Amino acid sequence: MNDRIHQDLQETSQLLAAAKDFSEQFLATIEAIPVGRGMQGFERLSLPEQAHGASYAMHRFETLYAPYVNSSAGPRYWGFVTGGTTPAALMGDWLTAAMDLNAADRTAVSFHMEEEALHMLRQLFGLPEGYLGCFVSGATMSNFSGLATGRQWLGMQRGINIGEEGLHALGVIKVVSATPHSSVVKSMSMMGLGRNALVRIPTLPGREAIDVLQLEQYLAAHPEEPVIVSASAGTVNTVDFDDIAAIVKLKERYVFWLHVDAAFGGFAALSDTHRHLVAGWEQADSITIDAHKWLNVPYDSAMLFTRHPEMQLEVFKNAGAAYLGDPAKQFNYTNYGPENSRRFRALPAWFSLQAYGREGYRELVTRNIRHAQLLGQHVASDDRFRLLAPVHMCVVCFTLHVAEEELGAAVAAYLQALQDGGVVYMTATYYAGVPAIRAALVNWRTTDEDVAIVWEEMQQQVEMLPARV
Ligand SMILES: *Cc1c(COP(=O)(O)O)cnc(C)c1O
Repeated sequence: MNDRIHQDLQETSQLLAAAKDFSEQFLATIEAIPVGRGMQGFERLSLPEQAHGASYAMHRFETLYAPYVNSSAGPRYWGFVTGGTTPAALMGDWLTAAMDLNAADRTAVSFHMEEEALHMLRQLFGLPEGYLGCFVSGATMSNFSGLATGRQWLGMQRGINIGEEGLHALGVIKVVSATPHSSVVKSMSMMGLGRNALVRIPTLPGREAIDVLQLEQYLAAHPEEPVIVSASAGTVNTVDFDDIAAIVKLKERYVFWLHVDAAFGGFAALSDTHRHLVAGWEQADSITIDAHKWLNVPYDSAMLFTRHPEMQLEVFKNAGAAYLGDPAKQFNYTNYGPENSRRFRALPAWFSLQAYGREGYRELVTRNIRHAQLLGQHVASDDRFRLLAPVHMCVVCFTLHVAEEELGAAVAAYLQALQDGGVVYMTATYYAGVPAIRAALVNWRTTDEDVAIVWEEMQQQVEMLPARV
């Protein structure tokens, strides 16, 4: 190994050139690469006995697997909510790996740059400086960390330090929400609250947003109960928003922790026409915003913002590790989030924010919203489709005009046909019990032409479906 790895060291320049060439070629042709090719039935490689070096690994990757890589970073991958990577973010991410700094070191330059990136993000989203930010691996971990900080706060309200005593010292904590993302419920399991502690408040009629009156009734009926309200700022099906300002107002009369899951909906703050949707969020206790979605930095990256750093510290501090110093005296992100050793995730975000600024991101968000609305208009105007909800932001949620009993199969067949076509990738969902399709547009590359290409493809494929009504 030693010989081989040191030979690689001598060849660093050629090796990095090979990685660069591959990346360059991939990105230059990304629009022609199928959006959703899967791979099945592959043999698993064994651990090599001998060291063959990095070129060997690259060769194996290029010959065995590269032909199957899909273009999920491309302009017409509209499944889930999947951003791409801006050129500047890619540079930042490469440098992150090359430098391999541990962002747990508060004396390193990475610490200053993480603070700076979070400062720029607060400016981008219009969040007060009073929010402590922290990079984590994704919105799931951000939701987890926000809820865990709320759990701590609820205990402290009652004189119980859950970080020290454990959850059982307090007992049941309810998480109250109307349309929570699955990761909120997953977090409840991870945190020991249990999935059954979720209280679902009804939505407003025909909406995914919480009925605030019913939320208030619940709070009034359970005055003693420790409650986290998990508000949705952008549901995944229809990008509906809970009325955050109205929920904040309830804090005057009821005691609860307000967490806002704004994984991608938080980007409404960048749009003059959509900013009102997050009105009041600057008074939430904790906020989740994803970076690998609409910020278009590579996986895996998200932010947690909270107004209660002292509670966060109680949850996440490394207490009693002599070599780490006193967490209360020396600020370190390690003591405010789940990870100890930390990737320098702030750097790709820092690069992209410095490169494109407020104007660049505003243009991106505005353009994606316009494209989603355009697609929504196409769908609404064609009676082979049925738009299931108004296009609030960046997601089009629709289904096919097919007899109810055939709809599930038709939707599956249609999605498969689109995927096989390789032009566009959308994903399945259920909306109000109806088998449906989602297209989520949050990629910086998407253009007017992409929307036209997709709409053409959608019409062609719908023609081919059997048994239409
Ligand atoms: C994507 C998403 C999450 C989970 O985010 P990950 O980055 O996949 O961990 C949570 N909430 C909402 C609203 C999301 O869209």
